[in-house]
Amino acid sequence: MDRRHFFQSTALVSTGALVGCVTPGMAQQQVKSPFAVPQVYIPIVGSDEMFPVRRIYCIGRNYAAHAREMGSDPNREPPFFFQKPTDAIQYVAAGTVAPHPYPTLTKNYHYEAELVAVLNKGGRDIPVEKALDLVYGYSLGLDMTRRDLQRALGDEKKPWEIGKSFDHSAPIGAVHKLSQTGHFTQGSIWLKVNGQTKQSADLKQMIWSVAEQISKLSQAFELFPGDIIYSGTPENVGPVVRGDVIEMHIDGLPNLSVKIV
Ligand code: MN
Repeated sequence: MDRRHFFQSTALVSTGALVGCVTPGMAQQQVKSPFAVPQVYIPIVGSDEMFPVRRIYCIGRNYAAHAREMGSDPNREPPFFFQKPTDAIQYVAAGTVAPHPYPTLTKNYHYEAELVAVLNKGGRDIPVEKALDLVYGYSLGLDMTRRDLQRALGDEKKPWEIGKSFDHSAPIGAVHKLSQTGHFTQGSIWLKVNGQTKQSADLKQMIWSVAEQISKLSQAFELFPGDIIYSGTPENVGPVVRGDVIEMHIDGLPNLSVKIV
């Protein structure tokens, strides 16, 4: 392939690279591909539109008592983040108890109840005082975790990918627009297993606020519309087994329930 031909055949990708990405819409319209890859969506309450999920970010150890139970110092160490693939999304409609598959490879499967912020704007190096301008709305979700594998991989200084970033590991409720809920800076967050309270805390106990999380994330990654952020779990994470029913709550949002099958 000569040089001119090479540049012609890669013109679309190169143009995209200059602006930071090829948007999914552009790719669907202009690129031929041998098979389709589905876009993951979450319903938006009070709308016939669906929220397209681009990337799932999660913050680790964002409540002091949880940081302590995980064996680290909660004294405002810089926040750290990991991602889950969009395949991890399991949408759970309000008022239903969704069957949630117990995953392979683990004998210690944990719940983590979390507030989720969803973005419809992006950018780099967003100052904290502008960060909430990126937020489209909120939901609530579970950062389901193969705790035994997460710990073992961490002990071996290996990536904890299979402990955190597996299929169905991100159950989530519908998106509520900001205009319906306002921002979540305080309010009760709790989780019950089989009706018994396991986690109970207040969102104001987050070490890093949602605004601070967005600001910090945007220093490491260019954020985009469709990115969503699991904002960390309070203390008293613990195991579930098949047959258990998890119910979680955040003040101002409908509860989310799954049954482990
Ligand atoms: Mn978590």
